[in-house]
Amino acid sequence: MTIGIISRQECRLHEMGAYHPEQPARLDAINDRLIAGGLDMVLRHFEAPKVSREQLLVVHDRIYVDQVFDVAPEEGMVWLDGDTSMNPHSLEAALYAAGAGVYAVDLVMQQEVRQAFCLVRPPGHHAERGRAMGFCIFSNVAIAAYHAINHWDLERVAIVDFDVHHGNGTEDIVSGDQRILFCSSFQHPFYPGTGSDTAAANVVNMPLPALTDGAAFREAMLQHCIPRIEAFAPQLILISAGFDGHRADDMAQFNLLEFDYAWVTRQLAQLASISAEGRIVSCLEGGYNLHALARSVEAHLRAFLD
Ligand SMILES: [Zn+2]
Repeated sequence: MTIGIISRQECRLHEMGAYHPEQPARLDAINDRLIAGGLDMVLRHFEAPKVSREQLLVVHDRIYVDQVFDVAPEEGMVWLDGDTSMNPHSLEAALYAAGAGVYAVDLVMQQEVRQAFCLVRPPGHHAERGRAMGFCIFSNVAIAAYHAINHWDLERVAIVDFDVHHGNGTEDIVSGDQRILFCSSFQHPFYPGTGSDTAAANVVNMPLPALTDGAAFREAMLQHCIPRIEAFAPQLILISAGFDGHRADDMAQFNLLEFDYAWVTRQLAQLASISAEGRIVSCLEGGYNLHALARSVEAHLRAFLD
């Protein structure tokens, strides 16, 4: 079976200003790389549908969802937080980005594809139950996790977040829910400043210092994350795939390389093959150096084929 890529042209139209790092060119760079590297030939492309209001309300407060719909501008730009704005296309893009994760879960559960990668924006892992934050509007990964639980009756879903920033939004939503195991590795101290306090039993936070390299990252994963997932025996693994911990990405100060993203992907694919029939849904989060981002996504997807 091949890898599914779930995307939507509308995700390109969401723009937060000419100099904003979370820009449409990120998707273009990844697409170009997949085509130039020949990987595109073995991928299956799918169009993301919009997430439904009911699916949003499983993880987000009604008042927040209403607010996002109400403030979505017909022209100009509206800021949801200091880093996150909406243009006239942002609401649609956010609905497709969240819908991609839901659809990806359906595709792997129906065995249409073994793994699926949601090549969408805006990202989602900073969006909390009741607020947008850090370039994120809706919690794409948490919505996908609850779709797997509610629609497909899964009892155990693991979410692994290797973005360089803590997945505060995902933790906010899934904390205390024993059906979900959430593991997040991140630079600390750093934005958003969360993740170093005591977490709920279903949350594994791995704060790592600036300049963390591949060896230290792998050590943390092997010590704190991999054994917990193995013991949890998830029926599906979701990945918050952020590549802003790459050495060339100046958003943060990790020194990871394509090789490290391939390594962690292989680890997760192996775990998925034990308890989840290989099912993995990966959702794009951060990654702002366009070249490093594109190469890292390619390495991430190639690792699924190993
Ligand atoms: Zn990030």
